[in-house]
Amino acid sequence: MGEMDVPFYRHSLKSSDADLVANVFASPILTSGAQCKAVEAQISEYFSVSHAKMVNSWTNGAVAALLALDIGPGDEVIVPAQTFIATSNVVELVGAKPVFVDVDPETLLLTPEYISSAITDKTKAVIPVHMYGQMCDIKSIRESLKGKNIAIIEDCAHTFEAKINNERPGKHSDFAIFSFYATKNVTCGEGGAIITNDENLYQKLIQTVLHGMSAGAADRFEKGQYRHWGMDRLGTKANLPDILAALLPPQISTIDARLKIREDLAKNYDQFFEDSPIKITKINQGIVHSRHLYPIWVNPKHRDQVLFKLGEAQIGSTVNYRAVPTLNFYKSNYGFKGGEFANSENWGDGTLSVPLFPGMSELEQNYVIETFEKTILPILGSD
Ligand SMILES: *Cc1c(COP(=O)(O)O)cnc(C)c1O
Repeated sequence: MGEMDVPFYRHSLKSSDADLVANVFASPILTSGAQCKAVEAQISEYFSVSHAKMVNSWTNGAVAALLALDIGPGDEVIVPAQTFIATSNVVELVGAKPVFVDVDPETLLLTPEYISSAITDKTKAVIPVHMYGQMCDIKSIRESLKGKNIAIIEDCAHTFEAKINNERPGKHSDFAIFSFYATKNVTCGEGGAIITNDENLYQKLIQTVLHGMSAGAADRFEKGQYRHWGMDRLGTKANLPDILAALLPPQISTIDARLKIREDLAKNYDQFFEDSPIKITKINQGIVHSRHLYPIWVNPKHRDQVLFKLGEAQIGSTVNYRAVPTLNFYKSNYGFKGGEFANSENWGDGTLSVPLFPGMSELEQNYVIETFEKTILPILGSD
C-alpha cells in the first residue's frame, strides 16, 4: 500500500487561467462589472431563464434570496435533514426557523410527501437540495404547493449540469442557487450564481446582494456621471468580483465534456459497489445526474474504520453529510434527541464519499477500487 496518493478532489484550473484574471486588471473595475454581466448572460442562456445574478458564495446568495423574499423572524422554511449545513444555516442567519424534514431513504431527496408533513401557516419557503447531483422533482413539488404562498429555492450547489425529464434547474422555482466553491463542478475558488424567471424578485435580489443599494458600482458611474443611489430594503454583501468571475466562462462552455468524464468514472464505481455489501444511492427515471459526489453507505459501526483505512492507503475521503439536526447547534437549539429523521440519520451515520473528479486517472480509480477489494470489503464481510 501507499504506492499511490489519490486526493479526494483535484481542481482543473491551470496557471494559464491567470491570463483570464490579468485581463480584468486592464479594466478599471475589479468588483462586479463587465465580467459578471458576461457570465450572467452565459448562465441565463444555459438555463433558459430571464435573469442570473453572480454572488460570492451560495451561502451569501441564499441570504440575499431570503431577504428578497422578505423572510425573517416568525417565518418557517422547510429544509431537508440530510444536506450540508449551509442549507439550514442561511435560514437561521435571517432570523427565520429552519424546519427539518426527512428525505427519501434511497435517493436522499425531498419529495412533496415529506414537505407537506411540515407545512404550517408560518411556512414561507422550502429549500429542496439536489443531493450529490440528482435533481428533486421540482415540478411536482411546485404542483403540491399550489394555492399556498410558499416559495421554492433550489439548492443547486451540487449541480450545474443536471436535468430531470429534460428540464434544468430554475424552471419551476422562485430562485435556484449555485455554488462555485473550490470543489464544485464549476469553480472560481469561492462564488455562486442565482437564477430566476421572476422580474419582481430579481429587482429585489439585485438590491439585497448589495447592502440594499439601488445601484451597483459599475452602474453608479455609468457614462462617467455620478448618480445618487437609495436604499429601500436591507441587504447583505454578496456580489462576486470580476477578478473571480473571469475564471468561469471557459468552464461553463466545456461543462458537458467534463460531465462525460465523471459519468464514466461513476459507472466504474457503480459496477464495483453494486456487487458488494456497500450501498449506493438510487437514481430515478428521467435523470441526468451531474455526478458531483460519489457517496457510499456502509454499516455505521464500520464507517469510521473505513475512513481510517482509506486514509492509511493515502486515499482522500470525506463525509457528505452527517444529518444536520444531529449537530450540536441544532440539537441543543431545537431539542432533537435523535431518531426524528430516521432516513437522514441512518444515511448520515454510514456514508462516506470516495474520490471523483474530472482529472482522475484510470490508474487512480483502479487503486481506489483495489483498496476496497483488499482492505475494506474484509472489514465489512462479517455482516
Ligand atoms: C457547498 C454547498 C453549499 C454552500 O456553498 P458555498 O458556495 O460554499 O456557500 C450549500 N449547499 C450545499 C448542498 C453544498 O454542498
